[in-house]
Amino acid sequence: MSIKYSEPPKLNTNRRFADNMICGHHLLVKAKRGEKSNSTNETYAVPAFNVTTFQGINAAFEAFETLGSSGLLAFSNSALKHFGRGDALSGLEIASQYIETLARRTTIKVATHLDHGDYMSDGGRKVIQGAVQMLTSVMADNSTNKSLGTPTSLDENIGFTREVVNMAHPLGVSVEGELGVLAGVEDEDTQSEESTYTNPDELERFLRETGVLMLAPTIGTKHGPNKGKPGEKVKLNIQLAHELLKSANTINEDIVFVAHGASTLYPNVVDYAITQLGALGSKEQDISKWKEFVGTDWEQIQGLIGAGFCKINTDTENRQTYLAALIGALKGTASKVDIRYYDNATTKALTQSYLQKLIMAGNYGVWHEPKIDVTQFKFEL
Ligand SMILES: [Zn+2]
Repeated sequence: MSIKYSEPPKLNTNRRFADNMICGHHLLVKAKRGEKSNSTNETYAVPAFNVTTFQGINAAFEAFETLGSSGLLAFSNSALKHFGRGDALSGLEIASQYIETLARRTTIKVATHLDHGDYMSDGGRKVIQGAVQMLTSVMADNSTNKSLGTPTSLDENIGFTREVVNMAHPLGVSVEGELGVLAGVEDEDTQSEESTYTNPDELERFLRETGVLMLAPTIGTKHGPNKGKPGEKVKLNIQLAHELLKSANTINEDIVFVAHGASTLYPNVVDYAITQLGALGSKEQDISKWKEFVGTDWEQIQGLIGAGFCKINTDTENRQTYLAALIGALKGTASKVDIRYYDNATTKALTQSYLQKLIMAGNYGVWHEPKIDVTQFKFEL
């Protein structure tokens, strides 16, 4: 194995962020060690919720505070553009300041993360540079060249990722790398037809030379609402995940893995949406799309959590919950001339969706005892 790079900079853990803001990696390593306010050795995972609107942020805070959970909020490039009225850099500033304002009044600790940052394009590079200044964690996804749509070489991936680590780690901002190609469509900038598994030899070189403490290996998850064929179970390569964890732990036990495309599918949400769409007399085309949605089975995700996957990225399931609740609200009444009525209905549903995933991941009681009895929680639309 040839080592081309000098020792990478260590993550500066002395950095102090704004009140109640915390480095993304800190939340994850706490989960890997099983540290909670009242216990240790209880492994849990941190769901990373992709938020695209202020409403999503509000709902997530409500869920985190109810359960005393790790607060990890992620932004895709297109979400940042949405926050910034077309400009991702403005979006970074607006969204991060909004979250910092809420964080000053919260009971938990919150991390903000850039999802699928692209250091290879000029535009993407500016967003990563801005995110290193304004967020507490960034992903530098250099495993594919997004303008060409082809996988990058290991050398290129290491080189670009290392540049981001050089910039972020001294500021206490954690960096997530990606190794292997993940299939599916997540975002306008994140799509690929085929996926390839992470190679264990490449993993070791990648971790040593980049210095990242967060890594998204590919073990069979897929982005988007159609993760497999209806009726068939999505199968992940859990054995490979354990093999990768073993070699990562020999390098640094603080290295944590990240599962992308980890949304499950809530059958109650699908049933609810289909019933409401039927009552509204909606197009058969829309109803059948709902029937074709396939998520990753939760048992598979649990297998990953046992293999060091502490960050579980979820987006699709929350989008589906939002949409189902909106359809239901419109079926209830489409003549209430009050934006807050529909806003409240969808925010309440989003909060439930977040609570459900946090409870499934064992992520409660991290900062304080939950305000509800988690064993009695029922996700109802
Ligand atoms: Zn992803």
